[in-house]
Amino acid sequence: MRLANKVAIVTGAGRGIGKATALTFAREGAKVVVNDIDAKAAQQVATEIESMGRQVLTIKADVSQSKEVNRMIQSILQKFGRVDILVNNAGIICRGSTENLSEEEWDRVLSVNLKGAFNCCKAVIGVMKKQRAGKIVNISSIAGKMGDIASAPCYGASKAGIACLAKSLARELAPYGINVNAVAPHAIETEMSREWSNKKRKSIISSIPLGRLGQPSDVAEAVVFLASDSAKFITGEVLDVNGGCLMD
Ligand code: NAP
Repeated sequence: MRLANKVAIVTGAGRGIGKATALTFAREGAKVVVNDIDAKAAQQVATEIESMGRQVLTIKADVSQSKEVNRMIQSILQKFGRVDILVNNAGIICRGSTENLSEEEWDRVLSVNLKGAFNCCKAVIGVMKKQRAGKIVNISSIAGKMGDIASAPCYGASKAGIACLAKSLARELAPYGINVNAVAPHAIETEMSREWSNKKRKSIISSIPLGRLGQPSDVAEAVVFLASDSAKFITGEVLDVNGGCLMD
């Protein structure tokens, strides 16, 4: 097992990519903290993890609220005494053109997707520094590299921000043995992508060299790799999980 006894936090783990990551972590032997703003969804994932014989802690917290994040980390330290892995997965999307985007929508997306990751990183960095070890993985997006007209511009901006946050933290925290990376998925089948019409789905698939949409498990496997010792010499990387759609 690649993550035996590691204490791993996955934010937004109630469904989609976060859920797949939490379950894959558990299969790899980790003790998993399932965070989500939706307590019921988080509890369902926790029940699956318990049935695998792994330790799990469910924490309802809104990552955009630093007080809630700080309380979450305190609860984790009380139960497990350490934090080995943080996956900043919680994210929201919004649609529409720049002209129709309200200031409130801009703030909400930036506040969950980018400030949420900052809040979580800030809260665990001291713990990881003391351990002189830790892994942080931010879930960015192809939209953060190329821009995206399917989502409002705040989404791509937040995803570029979270990738750059990973690079900046990778430089800052390397002397403490902490690796910080990101993954940039594209077209993964989750609730976030469920609203696509059949026409749009077909056109997206035709633009992907591997000829299919991604599954949450495709992203989860990339995250496990970056969170494991197999990636110990990798930091500041933004790993594409996109079926070959963008090769940069
Ligand atoms: P999803 O199915 O919408 O799941 C996101 C989860 O995060 C939901 O359970 C959601 O809870 C939770 N969440 C939302 N706001 C939160 C907050 N403030 N604090 C804590 N949890 C919160 O999304 P997904 O498709 O799995 O995407 C996961 C991540 O991958 C996101 O960061 C997304 O931007 C990124 N991504 C996705 C794709 C894709 O094609 N799906 C592609 C590239 C990148 P609620 O259900 O209550 O809102």
